[in-house]
Amino acid sequence: MCEIAGGLLHDYALYISGNYNIFTIFILVCNPSAVDYMSFLYYHAPRRRDQRTAVRSQSALLLRRSRLRISYMNQTKNTDNQLHELTDLYRNLLNVLGEDITRDGLKKTPLRAAKAMLHITNGYTQDLDTIVNGAVFEAETDDMVVVKDIELYSLCEHHLLPFIGKCHVGYIPEKKVIGLSKIARIVDVFARRLQIQEKLTRQIAETIQHYTGAFGVGVIIEARHLCTMMRGVEKQNSYMKTSCMLGAFRKSVSTRAEFLNLVHAH
Ligand SMILES: [Zn+2]
Repeated sequence: MCEIAGGLLHDYALYISGNYNIFTIFILVCNPSAVDYMSFLYYHAPRRRDQRTAVRSQSALLLRRSRLRISYMNQTKNTDNQLHELTDLYRNLLNVLGEDITRDGLKKTPLRAAKAMLHITNGYTQDLDTIVNGAVFEAETDDMVVVKDIELYSLCEHHLLPFIGKCHVGYIPEKKVIGLSKIARIVDVFARRLQIQEKLTRQIAETIQHYTGAFGVGVIIEARHLCTMMRGVEKQNSYMKTSCMLGAFRKSVSTRAEFLNLVHAH
């Protein structure tokens, strides 16, 4: 129904204007389904080349905008629902612990805890393509690039307790390098989920490999797990070290040694 109405309005717009103009754009903004109709017209009605180009770019732009708007609206709605449900859950949790949730210190705790939990697990809603956003550049180099001591905060999926540490990343470019800040963002996307350290290490390495097409990627994570420090064996000074070596870092002993030397050099 909406599509038919969009089509009729569009016909009318063409009729009164005789051209694609601001009125047509207005129709498209109001009704994204008219974009398909516009594509149909574009392919079936011969027009001047510059008009076709203009229509094509307008349609693409409007389509992209309407998709972004819809995904933003869906995301906001989901986040609101999640916040509401999580707040209820935290209220129950405090009750089960035997706390008085009406006392001053705890009145707003369920909402605060829900917001904090959504923040530290927001890696689920991040889109890697948007984050990398084309920040992969051509470069005539095949020398190792190392970024070390990237701060890392994650949650262990077994106890929902934090593990905190550092991540070191190295790669050998194959004519493409990735923006420095993007490496840290990639680390965050995977760290801000419920994780085990081994899987996190591999996900970071494979993602950098995917976007750079590098000769090889190496990732090392060193972290302290609060689940072993606060409970269980209660060991305060142990930390876990995991690594993932891909391509040249796995095949070549000397490449791996160079990476380890750079990571441990002060
Ligand atoms: Zn744990």
